[in-house]
Amino acid sequence: MMSRTLTTAAARAGTCLCAVRFGSAAEPTAADTNPNLLLITLDTVRADYLSCNGSKKVQTPQLDRLARGGVNFTRARTSVPLTLPAHASIMTGNYPPVHGVRDNGSYRLPEEQLTLAEVLDGHGYETAAFIGAFVLDRHFGIAQGFNTYDDGDWGNVNRLENLAAERSADAVHDAFSSWLKDRAGEGPFFAWVHLYDPHAPYVPPEPFRKRYADNPYAGEIAYTDAVVGKIVEDLESRKLLGSTLVAVVGDHGEALGEHGEQTHSLLIYNSTIHVPMLLYFPGRIPSGKTVAHLTRTIDLAPTILDYLSISQTIGQGSSLRPLVEGESPDEKLVAYSESLYPSLNLGWSELRGLEGGGHRFILAPRPELYDLAEDPGERENRIDSNPEVGDRLERSLASLMASMSESGGHARQVVDSQTQEMLRSLGYVSTNHSSPPDGSSLVDPKDKMELWRNIESGLALFSQGEFSGALEIFKRALAEDSDIPILYDHIGWSYVRLNQYDRAERVYRQSLEHGFDSADLRANLGLIYYRWGEFEKAEHELRTALKLEEGSVSAHYRLADVYRATRSYSKAVEHYRRVLEIDPGYVWALNGVGMALAMGGKNEEALAAFRDAVRVAPGMAPGYLNLAVHLERMKRFPEALEAYQKFIDLSSEDEFARQRKSAAAAIKRLQPR
Ligand SMILES: [Zn+2]
Repeated sequence: MMSRTLTTAAARAGTCLCAVRFGSAAEPTAADTNPNLLLITLDTVRADYLSCNGSKKVQTPQLDRLARGGVNFTRARTSVPLTLPAHASIMTGNYPPVHGVRDNGSYRLPEEQLTLAEVLDGHGYETAAFIGAFVLDRHFGIAQGFNTYDDGDWGNVNRLENLAAERSADAVHDAFSSWLKDRAGEGPFFAWVHLYDPHAPYVPPEPFRKRYADNPYAGEIAYTDAVVGKIVEDLESRKLLGSTLVAVVGDHGEALGEHGEQTHSLLIYNSTIHVPMLLYFPGRIPSGKTVAHLTRTIDLAPTILDYLSISQTIGQGSSLRPLVEGESPDEKLVAYSESLYPSLNLGWSELRGLEGGGHRFILAPRPELYDLAEDPGERENRIDSNPEVGDRLERSLASLMASMSESGGHARQVVDSQTQEMLRSLGYVSTNHSSPPDGSSLVDPKDKMELWRNIESGLALFSQGEFSGALEIFKRALAEDSDIPILYDHIGWSYVRLNQYDRAERVYRQSLEHGFDSADLRANLGLIYYRWGEFEKAEHELRTALKLEEGSVSAHYRLADVYRATRSYSKAVEHYRRVLEIDPGYVWALNGVGMALAMGGKNEEALAAFRDAVRVAPGMAPGYLNLAVHLERMKRFPEALEAYQKFIDLSSEDEFARQRKSAAAAIKRLQPR
């Protein structure tokens, strides 16, 4: 420990002349043993869209300054082109087969996984996260180790739609900024800021919209870059930059049409696997250094701990510090990548890849090999012309996968075993991850790119709430191929949102006939029957949903609604409370508890629930109205008056015209004479 500190100090003495342009040398540095950590994750940013990496399409002056003052890892690879699994790899230093998170939405990072936040929390750090998208909501286990997890309020219970919910980089920055201003702690902090804007749809704010009118994706990156500047500026203005390690990493790239893919998720070429990765810590980390050797996002957590002088090992990656300090690279190093998205969602073959020795091998029904030096665009498959390299990489991939299955076994069992079980029973997940998929019978994703492009464009419309347009595309795709599970989910939910419940029900039934079942589907059927007043059928579907996935928030919530409608108030309360166990911030469930208790005649308990609801969501107007009505019924007039007034102050005329009128009447009625 001591000798490491001395080494660090010596290294600083050697580099401080050339360091620091911003974060001036005059800033006090905190105790050497306890630097802060700021981790910024850039969603959907291609490495070649940073001007410090040579991009001519976009200017990223803020990221460039960090690169100039720190280390730029120009060949960093993510392990999977999906937000939640990729972040799980960043946080644990593990590949997906080990941390167990293979897709967005239906997986949860198991408690047994050790995260960077847990390590730092254990070393006395105050830990806080500021999240830009629902995919990283606390439900999904990625919040473990954080004292503060600011993941916004995404509103809707439906998971399909929620996955697209996001908040702007400026809103995330505001949350970070006020936390930093208000924090009382004297000790070091770890703050994680997640910036989601470069994710589709690309709608940058001005002036970036105009400046990048012909390339709005570049505009989103330029905007995100500007917000990175504001975040760093916050540290600088509080004299914290000199005592903070800043790490920036991408979760995955964006295909932008390469290989027939528009966004990311399906394929595992460099267009989505190559990510930006920067470290900045003037005086402690060399400045202006470029590391062009192969590196991986799983190496980031061990590298960070190394630079923070915390001698705990984490994950499968290794510290890049020796590489940064000039040691020769491990020529045998390989980078694993995967996408199970095609097998989990489309019924096609999964993809697994391994990069090493300047080549990438992709295991698919028709395997691929690319020479990355000669063919960086990965256009020419050399599997037949270079069988030796192909065989070698295939063998290392197989042995790596076998070794991960061993260590990942326990993680898979405990993590979200319900979902795993369900998916497996449907044949979505191969039962033995240690062996390559049986290629012969499965669809190779690269052979279906035209169909996939159509589905992708439907998904884009769907995520923007344009259900009619999405529906047309999904229906055409389904006519072409009726064995694609996500089409049924999305067509069904589009009909629900268009209030065409009979059509939605029919599609969900067709899905079941094809053997595609899920908790979400059953919960949606439950919602349809509830809306039709067919409570017995609704109860049956919602109970089935809970058998498939006990932790389904929407199934518990809707089941509670069914019980409230059928006057089974104690059962209603039980299921609203279960929602709150799973998600304590789910304010509608608190409100539901209050309503069910009040209707069951438990006035005092109901009052406590309504009060909790306005405490948890102090900006939400309807909570005050319910509280006010209940207080008035309990003849607690002065408090009722206050709550009615609060409702009027918070509610808008557009949304609550009728309720505002009755609240105003109540105020008149209750006004002391
Ligand atoms: Zn992402």
